[in-house]
Amino acid sequence: MEPTQKIAPKTTLQAVRGMNDILPADSGKWEFFEATVTRVARQYGYRNMRTPIVEPTPLFVRSIGEVTDIVEKEMYSFEDKLNGEKLTLRPELTAGLVRAAIEANLTYNGPVRIYTMGEVFRHERPQKGRYRQFNQFDVECFGFDGPDVDAEIMIMTARIWRELGLNDVRLEINSLGNPDERSSYREKLISHYEANLTALDDEAKRRLHTNPMRILDSKVASVIEVNKTAPNLLDSLQDESRAHFESLQQLLHDANVPFVVNPRIVRGMDYYNRTAFEFVTDRFGSPMTICGGGRYDGLFEQLGGKPTPSIGFGMGVERVLMMLDDAALQADYERLDAYIVHAGESARLAAGKLAESLRDAGLAVAQHAGGGSFKSQMKKADASGARFALILGDNEVAAGTIAVKPLRDAKGNAIVGEQAIITGSSAAEHLRRR
Ligand code: ATP
Ligand code: MG
Repeated sequence: MEPTQKIAPKTTLQAVRGMNDILPADSGKWEFFEATVTRVARQYGYRNMRTPIVEPTPLFVRSIGEVTDIVEKEMYSFEDKLNGEKLTLRPELTAGLVRAAIEANLTYNGPVRIYTMGEVFRHERPQKGRYRQFNQFDVECFGFDGPDVDAEIMIMTARIWRELGLNDVRLEINSLGNPDERSSYREKLISHYEANLTALDDEAKRRLHTNPMRILDSKVASVIEVNKTAPNLLDSLQDESRAHFESLQQLLHDANVPFVVNPRIVRGMDYYNRTAFEFVTDRFGSPMTICGGGRYDGLFEQLGGKPTPSIGFGMGVERVLMMLDDAALQADYERLDAYIVHAGESARLAAGKLAESLRDAGLAVAQHAGGGSFKSQMKKADASGARFALILGDNEVAAGTIAVKPLRDAKGNAIVGEQAIITGSSAAEHLRRR
């Protein structure tokens, strides 16, 4: 064992840059989000699956593609000092899920619908909505040709926005064709860039012959300008891909899910083909993508599996949470039904029993811990956000009663209510009544 690093006793340690803590005051939003997406995914017949945060580096290089932003400059890769293995903190969720699906022969009995949520890591410059550790909610449909399931995941996502109360999210779709169509498009694209070489930055020039479609995704102003007149991939589509794309649009129409066709969507990973889509918001000034995905019909084979046409998406959880209004949500996910205030040994015992019986009845109850006067305990009860304070003193214990003081209304607003005396056996009923 190497000696552990010496840390001066007074040094405060800080989180890694671009990696955030989620404190109790913010976690209500997260729980609301998780509960909502889980419920909706289950309503559509999706099942949960979870894979490790660390995967062998070649998994991402082979799937996402060598000449992409993620693989070229954003991956947290390291060598396991104990055995020399090359490992990477997952920069997205699809590759690991596909690896696991192949390993477990998950589609043996037919196609499967999967959802998952978890941390992903990218070494980017941190800024609003861009972190080095962030979370994705992710959906994958393994073994489906589409376009029915392509439409399904967009319809499902549209429902998620409605249930989260978001109405300023726009769906943009595109088709990236199949590998043949892309290679004929590639030639046209290279000629276009060669005719505009002076406008390309070094990165674009470097990618011109290795991965020209990546240049369409550039964020450099002069390149964005050249991209405006670039040939359109949709014009290179043959009958089958065109029919797939048209049928997807019809299905979205039928389901009343509005969309626009945006031929500039190329997505940041090489594994996509045919359907590509993004959900975009203009809430933060410039357009921000909060969810992106597409079809990856060749990925299973590329990773050593059987042909398994598939589609999926990744939703940036932090970006979605930036759009949620906290006030209303917090209340639901943070509210305690009761806070039990107690003084004296017999009251402490009675409080413990009362708390457990209320929890048996499904209520959320905090029992005061740490002693203190009634007055200071009542302050804690107030601060807890609980709807009621339940007060137990010697008198109450002797009489077998509880003093109940309402603290909050149904919306979580503080109220000044009359104190009532109830019996222990009616406590659960009393708390439920409002
Ligand atoms: P961008 O173009 O903003 O870099 P991307 O194309 O790299 O996004 P994807 O790889 O498609 O994004 O990831 C899916 C979603 O994850 C994005 O739509 C976005 O909401 C979110 N996301 C991507 N990178 C970050 C990041 N560094 N921090 C927070 N969220 C992110
Ligand atoms: Mg990116």
